[in-house]
Amino acid sequence: MPQEKHRKIIIIGAGPAGYTAAIYAGRANLKPMIIQGMQPGGQLTITTEVDNFPGFEHGIQGPELMEKMRMQAERFDTEIISDSVTEVIMQQRPFQIKLDSGDIYTCDALIIATGASARWLGIPAEKRLSGYGVSACATCDGFFYKGQDVAVVGGGDTAVEEALFLTNFVSKVYLIHRRDALRAERVMQQKMEENKKITPVWNSVVEDILGEPGKGGVHAIRVKNVHNGAVTDIPVTGVFIAIGHNPNTAIFGNQLDKDDSGYLATKPDSTATNIPGVFAAGDVQDRHFRQAITAAGTGCMAALEAERYLNELEGAATRF
Ligand code: NDP
Repeated sequence: MPQEKHRKIIIIGAGPAGYTAAIYAGRANLKPMIIQGMQPGGQLTITTEVDNFPGFEHGIQGPELMEKMRMQAERFDTEIISDSVTEVIMQQRPFQIKLDSGDIYTCDALIIATGASARWLGIPAEKRLSGYGVSACATCDGFFYKGQDVAVVGGGDTAVEEALFLTNFVSKVYLIHRRDALRAERVMQQKMEENKKITPVWNSVVEDILGEPGKGGVHAIRVKNVHNGAVTDIPVTGVFIAIGHNPNTAIFGNQLDKDDSGYLATKPDSTATNIPGVFAAGDVQDRHFRQAITAAGTGCMAALEAERYLNELEGAATRF
């Protein structure tokens, strides 16, 4: 039988929200524990230059920023463990967290900062050709496409950022978007327009990705024009899907309230969920902004609210 280990406060997730929560909880003497999963540091570890996080006037690389946050959290006595959470039971006190290793932790306050993961189109070719020309991370895989033609699917900041990044290596990037207007910030759009290596393919959806894993991988992307139905095969060797993210909430089942898009619901001006003592911060509860700085901000809020909650719990325990 695995033994339960108790902590006052546990934070699940090690992105900007999780680390900021840990820094605040650590400074409040709560000795927080972070459980970091398969992607410590979160989405910023697969990004390149971060130019909009205040305090770095010349920008900073995503992985370096996350490393700094980790070291800062550890300076304030944060214990960080690497394991995957398999189940969280919130219907009992203390809350119980089961890990892949078999370890079980309990805690009085829980901060959920599990972030969000890349969304896929849902066509069979994505799975079949994953690792053979299909990717959701240009920063991770772009280098392999030196001198080749590739496609990026999507019209938001991620898609444009990935397309721009890829132009450092590839000959040509087709940006395939289902509408004729980008969702990306104006400044990103301008950079894209100025970049001769990027060719937009407007009003087009992906029908298929052509190629076989053992036979050289991807060799074309099949797109359909949504207005006239015309189908075109564009020869490319790489396809990068950049159509947004889904919040990582599967391990919580139906215990927590969610909004229509599956993001964890929190009370107005608060990170409190529908279960007292459980707080949610960062991309897992933010469908609107999804920025590192807003994640950090809600991480701070979650720690302050958790501290208040724990004080009230202790007060109640000494009163009775
Ligand atoms: P977004 O949700 O902003 O954009 C997703 C894009 O993918 C949209 O253009 C959308 O089309 C398209 N899309 C969605 N589903 C499909 C589908 N099934 N088929 C085809 N196309 C689809 O996600 P991002 O990841 O781009 O950005 C998320 C957040 O992160 C945003 O707030 C963004 O500003 C931020 N961000 C900021 C960066 C920065 O500041 N450097 C860098 C990256 C992201 P449509 O437009 O038609 O809905």
